[in-house]
Amino acid sequence: MLRTCWLPCLRKTSHLKVLSIFSSTSSASCILKKGIACFSALPETHQMLQKTCRDFAEGELKPIAAKIDREQLYPKEQIKKMGDLGLMAVSIPQEYGGAGLDYLAYTIAMEEISRGCASAGVIMTLNNSLFLGPLLHFGTPEQKKKFIRPFSKGERVGAFALSERGSGSDAGNMVATAKDDSSHFILNGTKSWVTNGYESEAALIFVSTNRTLKNKGISTIIVPQPIEGLFLGKKDVKMGIRGSSTCDFIFEDCKVPRENLLGDFGLGFKIALSSLDSSRIGIASQALGIAQACLELATDYSSKRLAFGKPLTKLQTIQNKLADMALQLESARLLTWRAAWLKDNRKPYTKEAAMAKLAASEAATFLSHQCIQILGGMGYVSDMPAERHYRDARITEIYEGTSEIQRLVIARTLLKEMGY
Ligand SMILES: Cc1cc2nc3c(=O)[nH]c(=O)nc-3n(C[C@H](O)[C@H](O)[C@H](O)COP(=O)(O)OP(=O)(O)OC[C@H]3O[C@@H](n4cnc5c(N)ncnc54)[C@H](O)[C@@H]3O)c2cc1C
Repeated sequence: MLRTCWLPCLRKTSHLKVLSIFSSTSSASCILKKGIACFSALPETHQMLQKTCRDFAEGELKPIAAKIDREQLYPKEQIKKMGDLGLMAVSIPQEYGGAGLDYLAYTIAMEEISRGCASAGVIMTLNNSLFLGPLLHFGTPEQKKKFIRPFSKGERVGAFALSERGSGSDAGNMVATAKDDSSHFILNGTKSWVTNGYESEAALIFVSTNRTLKNKGISTIIVPQPIEGLFLGKKDVKMGIRGSSTCDFIFEDCKVPRENLLGDFGLGFKIALSSLDSSRIGIASQALGIAQACLELATDYSSKRLAFGKPLTKLQTIQNKLADMALQLESARLLTWRAAWLKDNRKPYTKEAAMAKLAASEAATFLSHQCIQILGGMGYVSDMPAERHYRDARITEIYEGTSEIQRLVIARTLLKEMGY
């Protein structure tokens, strides 16, 4: 039996000496024990968290992952149980109903959950880092009271609506507007690809409150749902992460109280960028989980499959593939943990988060591709999860900034750091 409200208990016993992961070469080792990534250097707290999340994913997520993918079902019951465990608000302080753990803990939990089911992973990361995160950092005490605690237990989930059909990477070019009507905002326009759109009971909506100011005229408004004047578009039929819903939010003269402005007028673009910095570490972790699942599947299958009288693992070509897979995965994991560690220690991490997301998402694509290749025909049919991992991996290179945008962010910061 899983203990409920388990994660907050971890915090009391922890002394997070995460720096040792990066400062001691001997302790930075990662070994695979029966397919489980074991990091001897992780603080005990984080190892316990990893095990809890792994047990949960094995028992509750893996068994339903194929079905929710096939039938595009939101895993309501499982998300509620994740809420009971503290996983829907991992880094939110306990006073607001969260688990009160650090960001490294969040990355570890995200990886384990996504290893079991990438759809559950995206639902979790959206709520944690793109809904609750900005509310925690920019919300007023009243907004925090109203919108954090009720969304920290998995019974309700939040959404984040920045993109529009005409402006994804170029998000500042949005056309949705909010008119300031002294006591209310009147919202008009369409936001697209809103993750959790069909289930969310509140969303952070990014709208232009002054188009002449461009990025500086964008504001964030907390919109509770359902609400008059907000219509949901059709559920997008997606290639992967099909257990999470994605849809348009169509606003037609939607009236929202003025007190729901998050941060200040014109602060929306800053809120979006800083939230995406944190959240990219979550997507990197989702990608790690998918990649880890691929490595385990490929090693297990190739150790059992006989070809020319011996297991595939005896073939050097297959060994080379496994070695390249492990190399990409473990490099990406260290980048992801470094980004989380920087965030936990209040150091700049924009470049490092972009590196983590870029490396982990490309690793997930690579590993899922190689996994199918190692499984041969069984990799291509849905009897085995390899083809689902391949479809799930692909989105990690697109949302929360495409790989091209991550490279821009890295290069821009790098050039600045080097004085150019
Ligand atoms: C399943 C799914 C869920 C999503 N969930 C959310 C959500 O919850 N909230 C939300 O706000 N958005 C969400 N999105 C939107 C997502 O963030 C955008 O799709 C993404 O940012 C890319 O924007 P775009 O699709 O408009 O592509 P475009 O911006 O049109 O890009 C097309 C191509 O051009 C490249 N490109 C664009 N600009 C540049 C540049 N300056 N330099 C080099 N290359 C460039 C891109 O890298 C890409 O290869 C989701 C999308 C999907 C598919």
